[in-house]
Amino acid sequence: MTAHVKPKALENFKARDFRMLIDGVWTEGAGPALERVAPGHGIVVSRYPAGTKADAERAIAAARKAFDHGPWPTMTGAERSNILLKAADLIAARADELAFLDCIESGKPISQAKGELGGAADIWRYAAALARDLHGESYNTLGEGTLGVVLREAIGVVSIITPWNFPFLIVSQKLPFALAAGCTTVVKPSELTSGSTLVLGEILIEAGVPAGVVNILTGTGPEVGAPMTTHPDVDMISFTGSTGVGRLTMANAAQTLKKVSLELGGKNPQIVFPDANLDEFIDAAVFGAYFNAGECCNAGSRLILHKSIAAEVTARIADLASKVKVGDPLDPTTQLGAIITPQHLEKIGTFVIDAAKAGASVALGGEALDLGLGQFMAPTILSGVLPDMAVAREEVFGPVLSVLTFETTEEAIRIANAIDYGLSASVWSRDFDTCLTIGRKVRAGTVWMNTFMDGASELPFGGYRQSGLGRELGRHAVEDYTETKTLNMHMGARTGWWMPR
Ligand code: NDP
Repeated sequence: MTAHVKPKALENFKARDFRMLIDGVWTEGAGPALERVAPGHGIVVSRYPAGTKADAERAIAAARKAFDHGPWPTMTGAERSNILLKAADLIAARADELAFLDCIESGKPISQAKGELGGAADIWRYAAALARDLHGESYNTLGEGTLGVVLREAIGVVSIITPWNFPFLIVSQKLPFALAAGCTTVVKPSELTSGSTLVLGEILIEAGVPAGVVNILTGTGPEVGAPMTTHPDVDMISFTGSTGVGRLTMANAAQTLKKVSLELGGKNPQIVFPDANLDEFIDAAVFGAYFNAGECCNAGSRLILHKSIAAEVTARIADLASKVKVGDPLDPTTQLGAIITPQHLEKIGTFVIDAAKAGASVALGGEALDLGLGQFMAPTILSGVLPDMAVAREEVFGPVLSVLTFETTEEAIRIANAIDYGLSASVWSRDFDTCLTIGRKVRAGTVWMNTFMDGASELPFGGYRQSGLGRELGRHAVEDYTETKTLNMHMGARTGWWMPR
């Protein structure tokens, strides 16, 4: 729903006009601007240049030049680290502005957006520390006349493509690590939520990142994103988004054999045994389902409850979920904000209707909420969901929780693994053996035990199977943006001639 009057919180607000960053220059687009209507307020809040293929080619050329001629890749790790630390300080200093942009453009609650900014600044600091620790290996055990040295070199130009659900956090899971390695980059945020990434461009210039090292394009995926995945001067792609576009990205990259890192969808099971601390779990279940309105690859959208506790636990979750505060994303007390677009709201609604047709029961919500501005969805719970229903297998990306049941540990593991995704999972039990068995048998990149969606810059994040390729964060995150080179060095007279002397 589009607003007819400006919401009170935005009375003095003027839509912001952004430009793209190419080779250190803020650049207008050739065509008409893209307008972003705030999903929680129904007014235009940002305008972006509609970047073109030609803009993408100029940005890639700038990144190539900055990589091939330096100075970024040839600076010391300490020099790059100091710039990344300065960027982290500037992110912290502008956190309120960045959180506000993420809130109005994505519809996420402002309190949550501020939390994400704190997490993002920490990631920049962590990457800065890794920049000084990037190193190869040496082998002096290959015989007296041989010394082997393995170098870690920056891979080159990296295309970074990000989605709309965590605009600043996701670019922060990629860009500082690519920069720490000495790479140069072309970044494309989602056309729906480009604001905070463009402000990041201002921050990086102020921090001392040279021209051409970070280029930021706005525009649509097919127009500016696609050339970033096909151009021969790009060495690596780091993509977060849907499994479908991830698959297309990988196919495009195959033409020139680029390295690809993919963070894709998830349909994450939470397996709950009767001996679990149910008070703790019920809070985590509500958080896992409705955090970021469920528009989260890590959403705990698939509960697998032991049959003996399913009815009681579902009722308690419904009771708590009915108290979740849905409303204006700018209200600091809001917990569940707006849905990204009207089309996406419709897609979520269709999942609920189809699940009900297939035999699931709507235990809570199930419908859009008319709050007079933007588009919102009530916290929803579907019970009686069976493993083969679409709602149990596909990413809904909305505030919809599916409840399934199990009787034996083997059955729980089978249900948890019977999908194409493998991003994350959780197990709830006071029994150590149960937790460890589930932890080892469920095929997912992260398994939480008696908690959900906790994260840290030190812990790798990524998925099995169709949830993606590669890992972000963690101590190897910078290495992902490097190539190894072997220097095999010979000393003294060469022995072992092949041809007779
Ligand atoms: P997409 O995969 O469509 O978009 C992710 C990014 O890829 C955006 O920047 C998008 O640009 C860009 N893109 C789109 N098409 C191309 C292309 N042909 N070549 C290169 N880049 C391209 O995700 P959506 O944002 O549309 O979300 C759709 C669904 O994806 C969601 O409903 C959800 O299921 C899933 N998703 C998963 C995420 C995750 O974290 N795992 C995050 C976001 C979405 P633009 O949007 O500007 O056109």
